[in-house]
Amino acid sequence: MFFDNIFITLTYKCNCFCSKCFTRKHVNKNKEITKEMLSYLTNWINDHNFFKKISIGTGEPLTCNYLSNFIDDITKKPDLKLRILTNGKLFSPNLPDYFFNKEIKWGVTLDGFDQKDLEGLQKNLNIDNVKNNIALVAKKWGPDVLYLNYTLNKRNLGNLFNYVNFANENNIKDVYVTKIKFFKGINDHLKESLDVDYNCGNARDSISSIQDFCSLNNLKIKGLEETRPPSSKTCFDYANTISPIIDIDGSISFCQGREDVVIGNIKESDCIDKMMKIYSELNKNRIAQQQWCSLCLMKSRDEENIYHLPVSLYEI
Ligand code: SF4
Ligand code: SF4
Repeated sequence: MFFDNIFITLTYKCNCFCSKCFTRKHVNKNKEITKEMLSYLTNWINDHNFFKKISIGTGEPLTCNYLSNFIDDITKKPDLKLRILTNGKLFSPNLPDYFFNKEIKWGVTLDGFDQKDLEGLQKNLNIDNVKNNIALVAKKWGPDVLYLNYTLNKRNLGNLFNYVNFANENNIKDVYVTKIKFFKGINDHLKESLDVDYNCGNARDSISSIQDFCSLNNLKIKGLEETRPPSSKTCFDYANTISPIIDIDGSISFCQGREDVVIGNIKESDCIDKMMKIYSELNKNRIAQQQWCSLCLMKSRDEENIYHLPVSLYEI
């Protein structure tokens, strides 16, 4: 398969309750992949000789009944890299050894650094337990088995330094900061209290002191400044940025920005051909590309900086 990464959704279930969450508004809310579909999917990956990278996110993968089957099957395939995103609640050094195979990388998303940061934003998660488990995992399995992502908002900005310092103390080098996103009808009510204005003096000072700390400590934090490409550019201008998505029912869409357009199902023998056809048509036609990408859910925001999710997928 041509693509360097495929994104797989194993579950829409989650053990946390975040006010910013759109997963629970998804048409497949609280559902997960079946054992039969999972087995079909792993065979399909083998049959297509896909050996690059698989990213697992959406819902909480550690609640999925079949995550261990999936990891077990996939890690038998040499060189295939697996990235799994978790909220950290069930992440611990007591997970089975093969969950920390060298080809697997765990991403832990933090919505703040102390419990106060999470008030009214994320319920059912003890942030000190999560931090403690991250430190224990890094110590037991080595810091390279994980990466961290801090969803920055106005309230947790004051703890950004503590987050970066925590990563540094635990030797975790793969560290991200992502600005919180607001979605129309889901969490736009949080915008006023949590939106970060990167131009205000307070945010600028915090970020520049963290940048100084990072350069002193030889740390690279990705996303500290907004690094989005200029809007006239699309994924087609950058190598390897298109990630098809396979949903729990095997339906497949071409890229994360157009998740609303289902191309087919992995059970159909021509689904890869259909995807390649879309790729080559868009790749050679700049105008078609711009039209396709003008509806990108990852980029398109209204004048109030609010993202809109497709009504075909989300009950908004
Ligand atoms: S951890 Fe993620 S999936 Fe779970 S409720 Fe929060 S935002 Fe939603
Ligand atoms: S729609 Fe968005 S994610 Fe998809 S190819 Fe275009 S820019 Fe990339």
